[in-house]
Amino acid sequence: MSTIPAPSAVDALHGPPLPVLGADVRVPLITGDEVSYGALDYAASAPVLSSVWDDVSAYMPYYGSVHRGAGHLSQLSTDLFERSRRTVGEFLGCRGDDEVVFTRSTTDSLNLLAAALPAGTQVYVFETEHHAALLPWPPERLTVMRAPGSAYEAVEIVAETLACHDPQRPGLVCVTGASNVTGEIWPVGSITEVAHTAGVRVALDAAQLVPHRRVDVAGLGVDYVAFSGHKMYAPFGAGVLAGRADWLRTAAPYLAGGGASRRVVHGDGALSVEWQQGAARHEAGSPNVVGVHALASACRALTAAGFDALAAREEALLERTLAGLAGIEQVRVLSLLGGSAPRVGVISFVVDGWNSAHLAAALSAEYGIGVRDGMFCAHPLVRGLLGNAPDHSDECGAPEPLAPGARQVNAVRASFGAGTPVEHLDRLVAAVAALARDGSRWTYRTEAGRCVPVR
Ligand code: PLP
Repeated sequence: MSTIPAPSAVDALHGPPLPVLGADVRVPLITGDEVSYGALDYAASAPVLSSVWDDVSAYMPYYGSVHRGAGHLSQLSTDLFERSRRTVGEFLGCRGDDEVVFTRSTTDSLNLLAAALPAGTQVYVFETEHHAALLPWPPERLTVMRAPGSAYEAVEIVAETLACHDPQRPGLVCVTGASNVTGEIWPVGSITEVAHTAGVRVALDAAQLVPHRRVDVAGLGVDYVAFSGHKMYAPFGAGVLAGRADWLRTAAPYLAGGGASRRVVHGDGALSVEWQQGAARHEAGSPNVVGVHALASACRALTAAGFDALAAREEALLERTLAGLAGIEQVRVLSLLGGSAPRVGVISFVVDGWNSAHLAAALSAEYGIGVRDGMFCAHPLVRGLLGNAPDHSDECGAPEPLAPGARQVNAVRASFGAGTPVEHLDRLVAAVAALARDGSRWTYRTEAGRCVPVR
């Protein structure tokens, strides 16, 4: 007898998913049928919340230039832009003197922070970070810490590493809040305590945490936080870097141009520029007011839904899906920090005898489920989890079946959130079980590096 409750039990206990656009989109299957799209790639980009879309649509007739125009709509748009900044600051629980800088994405935010580091700053990252948090730092001032095997060990590694930090130099630990590969939540509060004891600041890569859990900058004590709108139900290309004002205030502008400059004078054959001091210093050019408005709208929507309620529902979905996958002998769910580590709605796994590119292609073509396959821009982490050599080359696209027990080179990731109906995850588990048991019903080949059904 199954111990997994009926799908309706999740909704009865935790309420239905939040309304998102695309919930009723139907997609064709290779077999000729049509099904509702099983959107399980939230960790890449989440669907847009209906309330965010409504807010954006309501604003569009009033769209105008920001910070420059004298007209009514310009003033309205400028006001909206600056109010959005306050909304985001409140959403994040920022300290009163923190800056909230609007960027394009988490990647952009962390590159901005890297460009704003005071001279001589030593940066510390785990090798398990997403490339956006692993790569922006100057290599000659970067210490890469080994992968921990538990949350406790992660804190220990930081403590050991920072014991050698020169207190005369600025330092920065950049750490993820939740892994985009395993979904596991990192012990950011404890890492921050250890880092601060060593006089080192902490930047939180909250790209995967912000859509799922309340991030409290002041409560956690982190110095900076970076995230993207498109992962929190607000596409349109806005991101955030929030945190301590001092480094940002003294750094060279991230982008040079209008908006970042207060006064420009040409004299004696040279330009002299007085740069802005606050967030505007790093926001040159016409800002993305639509993206920023959408992002602030998502902050309001998630706050109104309540993170406790969202997390409880997501945990019910996680439990159900992990239990379902655990019942399929060939499946191995990837975990770095150990089975008891809390997770957000991200599950990566491999199926013995299956190339993950092939599995993902079959899930899409035969079951209408959109997952991601590969190494998820976290190559060292995924190689480590799959037990591969660090210099192992990538072979993600090959559709050939693997022999049972053969080395895996990539994984499948299913990710979900506030808009996910139970049925999408139940369909995933049933599809993986059927594929593992019976194989695919179609033939696949590699085309331009992707595994695709032969038509
Ligand atoms: N950090 C993490 C943990 C991520 O999962 C991602 C994207 O997947 C990023 C950073 C980069 O986000 P973006 O592509 O929006 O810059």
